[in-house]
Amino acid sequence: MSASLDKVSQTLKGVIDAPIASYFESCVHCGLCAEACLFYTETGDPKYTPIHKLEPLRRVYEQEFTLLGRLKKLVGLSRPITDDELDQWQELVYDSCTLCGRCSLVCPVGNDIVYMVRKFREGMAVSGHVPDGIRSATKRTVEIGGPMGLKWPAVANVLRKAGEATGVTIPVDQEGADYLVLLSSMEIVNYPEYIEALARIFNKAGISFTVASDAFEATNAGIQIGSSDLAKVIVSRIVDAAERLKVKYVLSPECGHAYMAIRWEGPNLIGRPFGFEVVHVLELLDELRQKGVLKMKDTFKDPLILHDPCQIVRRGGVLQAPDALIRQVAENYIPIADQQKWNWCCGGGGGASAIHTEEAEALRARVFQIKKRQIEEAGVGTMVTFCANCRIVMEEGLDHYEMNTKLLGLTELLAEHLED
Ligand code: SF4
Ligand code: SF4
Repeated sequence: MSASLDKVSQTLKGVIDAPIASYFESCVHCGLCAEACLFYTETGDPKYTPIHKLEPLRRVYEQEFTLLGRLKKLVGLSRPITDDELDQWQELVYDSCTLCGRCSLVCPVGNDIVYMVRKFREGMAVSGHVPDGIRSATKRTVEIGGPMGLKWPAVANVLRKAGEATGVTIPVDQEGADYLVLLSSMEIVNYPEYIEALARIFNKAGISFTVASDAFEATNAGIQIGSSDLAKVIVSRIVDAAERLKVKYVLSPECGHAYMAIRWEGPNLIGRPFGFEVVHVLELLDELRQKGVLKMKDTFKDPLILHDPCQIVRRGGVLQAPDALIRQVAENYIPIADQQKWNWCCGGGGGASAIHTEEAEALRARVFQIKKRQIEEAGVGTMVTFCANCRIVMEEGLDHYEMNTKLLGLTELLAEHLED
């Protein structure tokens, strides 16, 4: 065996831990995970069966950790994994897995396939098999501060404009504020109306908040690329700012994986509990609703459906707040069949939206058909969501299918109808 072949296998061997071993051993090959994955349901291609996406990792597990596998390898019945194979496998590990977690939910033996894909990505990242779009987004986040390369002066300019539009000055680096507000670059660039909405609601509710000039970015490309070291650098930036400014809470924005990264992965990444609490913006808004602070002057009349972002709802556990908030503002809210923990992904989570090859974009358009059907079956002209990444991916899908569906952010919708 050549040194480079051995290196590839050894790198993948390094990411196999006890949970991964037990998941491979437990799989009963029932195929239920396929029916839960939008890449399979929308294409019918068996290569998109979730457990199959992990095949190179399974082969290394078998070859390195089982007696039969070692024997098969010895007599040449099982081939070592090659660099070329991992290159080809990028499509199955990155383009066609959004880490949405729907497959993990249906697996009868409890295999956490998202965990497995994440570990496989770790091996892919170390061995240099990461799509360019995700690699460069991660590099920009670590070196400049955010995946889109936004620098603080540009962000400060957006905050200043939001202040002018709302008459509410957005505090920066204010020590002792209750909330440190995080933003995602996608919101800053594409949906600054989210920032205006927050300013309006916080002003009305009398909430003290601040933005940190050295830690405004919520997204964590390190998690998407599959590198715990980079993910730790990005999380530490937020933790340092929150502790320096002595805030009580860090507020995660309308961004799915940012919430998972800071709320659920963060303390493990830095190896200690936070000295503050992490709250998702919808959790805070629902608390305000329950206290009677989030009163509406009127309601949104057109029939609409809600798209639940996977990382906030199914994986993040913010299950009830979105439903309660949409009912607060929408007169004709139509709950769809697969909602909350059973929602279908937008097709661009887990870093997939950062991959801009022709094939990846065609696949995203194909799997968007599931959202298209949901909109058509409900017969609505409006869809609401609360993740900037979902929103941009779904806008592309709507454009692709030339649909006139209006796409709105939940926080903005609430702010628009907020009592004066
Ligand atoms: S996490 Fe989602 S996209 Fe990835 S394999 Fe499972 S169901 Fe498919
Ligand atoms: S659902 Fe679970 S047990 Fe069934 S094939 Fe998929 S991973 Fe294996």
